[in-house]
Amino acid sequence: MSGQVRAQVDKYFEVVAHRNAGEPEFHQAVAEVFESLTVVLERNSKYADFGLIERLCEPERQIIFRVPWVDDQGCVHVNRGFRVQYNSALGPYKGGLRFHPSVNLGIVKFLGFEQIFKNSLTGLPIGGGKGGSDFDPKGKSEGEIMRFCQSFMTELNRHIGEYTDVPAGDIGVGGREIGYLFGQYKRLTNTYESGVLTGKGINWGGSQVRTEATGYGVAYFVAEMLKAKGESVEGKTAVISGSGNVAIYAIQKIHQLGGLAIACSDSSGYIVDKKGIDLDLLKEIKEVRRGRISEYADAVPHAEFVAGGCIWDVPCDVALPCATQNELDDSAAKTLIANGVQAVAEGANMPTTPGGIQAFRDAGVAFAPGKAANAGGVATSALEMQQNASRDSWSFEYTDERLAGIMRGIHARTIETAAEYGKPGDYVHGANIAGFVKVADAMFALGVI
Ligand code: NDP
Repeated sequence: MSGQVRAQVDKYFEVVAHRNAGEPEFHQAVAEVFESLTVVLERNSKYADFGLIERLCEPERQIIFRVPWVDDQGCVHVNRGFRVQYNSALGPYKGGLRFHPSVNLGIVKFLGFEQIFKNSLTGLPIGGGKGGSDFDPKGKSEGEIMRFCQSFMTELNRHIGEYTDVPAGDIGVGGREIGYLFGQYKRLTNTYESGVLTGKGINWGGSQVRTEATGYGVAYFVAEMLKAKGESVEGKTAVISGSGNVAIYAIQKIHQLGGLAIACSDSSGYIVDKKGIDLDLLKEIKEVRRGRISEYADAVPHAEFVAGGCIWDVPCDVALPCATQNELDDSAAKTLIANGVQAVAEGANMPTTPGGIQAFRDAGVAFAPGKAANAGGVATSALEMQQNASRDSWSFEYTDERLAGIMRGIHARTIETAAEYGKPGDYVHGANIAGFVKVADAMFALGVI
């Protein structure tokens, strides 16, 4: 039976790889979920019926469009825009927009596919989607960013809506970009449809804690992982890659929980501050000046900047990869393990390679995948949608408590599901299975569509 089911899952994968050639990140994301499917199909073969797996792998809709814009010198540039509306069995498509030169259809599909299971795990009524552009915001003026966002939304607006598809931020898309996107949507549609985008500013329809949510959520999740081992964040050292939205607020919450974040990075290198990262300075450099991480070491004499290099060489108790996909490979995982890491939680989407995950598994290190650990961002986006729908706005404390409760719930669901399916302590299987079953059951209920 087991061999038969495995062969069936391998066959599904072959078809996906064949139909989506040249999209390695998408293949990797699908393979990671399929690894957990064998045990589900063995328990309940109904999930192999009605083309369910094939339908789950095929996005409901993929939109690709031209984004022309004019720079400050009057030159015309053409970027490519994407929105993959992956699965709406549980609710409107929901997932961020990424502006980075590495964005292509395969990247957007991997992110959209992951988003389906992540959103399902939150327990909230949201489907999965993702989008973005190969536009590089680095070095662009305010005017150029605004004109790009306006051009992007000029096409995207016809595909989204509060009951259809609700984008948010991701790499390269923060509060500033959401503002320009929302402004253009409002202008084009002549509606103040707050629920069409999340991550809005507080005084124009945004939610408290949305900015902090992904990073805070990762820290809450790692606190639960340590608690399950009879430990806590108190007194633990943490290394966090990246220095963007997710990293900054993960650092903040780690400090609030009594831990010490000692290193963070950007694409040029990493800094180590053994006394603990000065968050006000980091925010000033990254959020206000939009500068480089080396500026931190320029300002703090006892801090060290390492150009290039691998941040995972820095010994720590807790590792939180919060930059980008495939940034933590098996060699980095082995270094972390040799240095005594106790828990690893992904703030970024798919930052750990399959070899890295296997190394943590083999060493018995608690490892949480992004679909569980970074779900706090999208969960708080769903809370923003709730507030928009009821024309309400909640306090910071209340929203933060809702977020903490959601993260505790995801941790519990993940761990319970892993144990139920004979994989105790395995957060990867737990998250994949719990996320899958809920979406699959909804797809059955809705018929073959
Ligand atoms: P930001 O753009 O705010 O920050 C990204 C950070 O990662 C920057 O420090 C950036 O450095 C670094 N980085 C990006 N690409 C690379 C690369 N190729 N190599 C090294 N460093 C890199 O993005 P977010 O913090 O919002 O997102 C980070 C991750 O978290 C992504 O994987 C995203 O999908 C995921 N995520 C984000 C959510 C959110 O709410 N924002 C929700 C859930 C997941 P540099 O500036 O030098 O490029």
